[in-house]
Amino acid sequence: MTLQQAIQYFSDPDNCVKYMVEQRWPDGVVVCPTCGRRDVSWLATQRKWQCKSRHAKRQFSAKVGTIFEDSPLGLDKWILATWMITNCKNGVSSYEIARNIGVTQKSAWFMLHRIRLAMKDESPARTMGQAGKPVEVDETFIGGKAKNKHLSARKQDEPKMVVMGMLDRSSREVRAKVVPNAKRETLQAEILKNIVKVGTVYTDGHVGYDQLNQLRYIHETVNHVNEYVRGNVHTQGIENFWSCLKRTLTGTYVAVEPFHLDSYVDEQVFRFNNRKGKNDEQRFAKVLSQVAGKRLTYAELAGKVGETAF
Ligand SMILES: [Zn+2]
Repeated sequence: MTLQQAIQYFSDPDNCVKYMVEQRWPDGVVVCPTCGRRDVSWLATQRKWQCKSRHAKRQFSAKVGTIFEDSPLGLDKWILATWMITNCKNGVSSYEIARNIGVTQKSAWFMLHRIRLAMKDESPARTMGQAGKPVEVDETFIGGKAKNKHLSARKQDEPKMVVMGMLDRSSREVRAKVVPNAKRETLQAEILKNIVKVGTVYTDGHVGYDQLNQLRYIHETVNHVNEYVRGNVHTQGIENFWSCLKRTLTGTYVAVEPFHLDSYVDEQVFRFNNRKGKNDEQRFAKVLSQVAGKRLTYAELAGKVGETAF
């Protein structure tokens, strides 16, 4: 399916419901999100189901229990926005979404933030490096981009944010998240959480990584002052991910609030980890299969708006 075909297919509300059912309930049995009953009836004229038990939210649409719940926007608009953010190589701005699906830019901005929740993969503990190949670990600083400000004004009011990332050389999976700082205890805690014990870790010479041997990791470093590659030892895979992230942040998303950086990182991780071996439709289906059980209210999002942009 191409974007044009997707637009055509999902303009039929019945197709939207059918597709959502396939992703949310792969065995074909629609389950009441409130009580779990599996024998609900379909009310065709309302495109809703009705649970046989008497409780609140007895009637429910395909949006109930997902990131789309409580939105006045139709499933067709949500589905197209999901398609676009999932498959645009460098991300998609709220302005593009607004133009393409016919909502306001503010609505589109909120939609994108909800959809990014579904793009967040759950990462099982200590599975990186389990195939025996090294894991590249690195951290990068985001922020401080203020073209219109005087050099003297830059340092104090634009704190840089730290993003830490890991790339498994075997699976090519990337994990990345915003961390409070680049101190040893912070970086080590993330490594312990994600990388299998006795695994091999490649980093640069940052002091935050200098005690990994004591944590029973096999640790190799490249000293970026005079070398970038020492045989097989380098961190160019994760650095490539940083370039993709920064390109998206500066090219597509003009101003990123610090509070929201994590969700842009999640989006980029999804795009990176699903870029190979899947076509547009498979990537899209994966995100739709992850829309259930996650919620983000407008208040939660809007309450954080107003922090310093960078
Ligand atoms: Zn029920």
